[in-house]
Amino acid sequence: MRHKIIIAIDGYSSCGKSTLAKELAAKLGYQYIDSGAMYRAITLYILRNNIDIKETGEVMDALANIHLNFHLNESTNKSEIFLNDENVEHQIRDMIVAEKVSDVAAIREVRAFATAQQKKLGKKKGIVMDGRDIGTTVFPDAELKIFMTADPAVRVKRRFEELYAVNPSITLEEVKHNLELRDYIDSNRDVSPLRQAEDAIVLDNSGLTREEQLEKVLGWVRERSSQLTES
Ligand code: C5P
Repeated sequence: MRHKIIIAIDGYSSCGKSTLAKELAAKLGYQYIDSGAMYRAITLYILRNNIDIKETGEVMDALANIHLNFHLNESTNKSEIFLNDENVEHQIRDMIVAEKVSDVAAIREVRAFATAQQKKLGKKKGIVMDGRDIGTTVFPDAELKIFMTADPAVRVKRRFEELYAVNPSITLEEVKHNLELRDYIDSNRDVSPLRQAEDAIVLDNSGLTREEQLEKVLGWVRERSSQLTES
């Protein structure tokens, strides 16, 4: 596979986008960027600083003070997000952030801020980015676009198990409500709502193992790369 490409993975919450994206990046020697982590880190800053998100001026001032970076954790070989030089990879997964992130991500100025950084990260190709608007807005020319779906009950169960491992007081009902609400807000916002790009391949992984899913997508990557080599 000589040609490095951009792989855009979009879809609803908890469809397993980041699991697939990480495995693909590791297999291909690409960089993995979790765009949701950027919206979550901005939300964490907003919560910590009591920013009123209805006040555009306050949001703009906050954005001017936010610096986001990804650094590779050598021991896990995974990239982690830093908010103003603080590693916040774990804090951004808290339910308190999940409850607010979709409202923050619907703000035009926040999206412009995050999207500009995401586009820069894609300049060198060889990147797998997952999110909600990667194939439609961030990389409309991505060589491979995947739109992931999974049975809602499977998604709730997966996210519940992940969160329960760090917070045993969480309930299945809370997780279900949060996923439904985020999907609703993400799909109905004015600025780059969650949509399947016209040229995206749909991947429903409800009945697939992680290995089967990875093999399937690696096949698509091979196909795309060889088409580019021939052209
Ligand atoms: O991917 P993750 O579930 O961590 O994303 C958290 C939230 O960030 C999403 O529910 C969505 O509101 C927002 N998001 C977005 N656009 C992206 C990635 C995430 O609006 N590209």
